[in-house]
Amino acid sequence: MVCPERCSGPHPTKQMELTEGMRAKLPPEVAEKATHRCMTCGAVYDAAGEVYGFLDSEVLDQSWRVRT
Ligand SMILES: [Zn+2]
Repeated sequence: MVCPERCSGPHPTKQMELTEGMRAKLPPEVAEKATHRCMTCGAVYDAAGEVYGFLDSEVLDQSWRVRT
């Protein structure tokens, strides 16, 4: 799987499955559907490649941003 946002680091090794801690930061309807997060740009998406939004890195307290 590669980042559907085609960011600067879309490689499969930079994609990770959402952890329970990450899901807790997401709106319920997103946590239900999303499966992965890109560690480079923070895109949260599902197996079909639909991007729901962005979860910033841990240093930024993993704040959630809806895709605009
Ligand atoms: Zn990305």
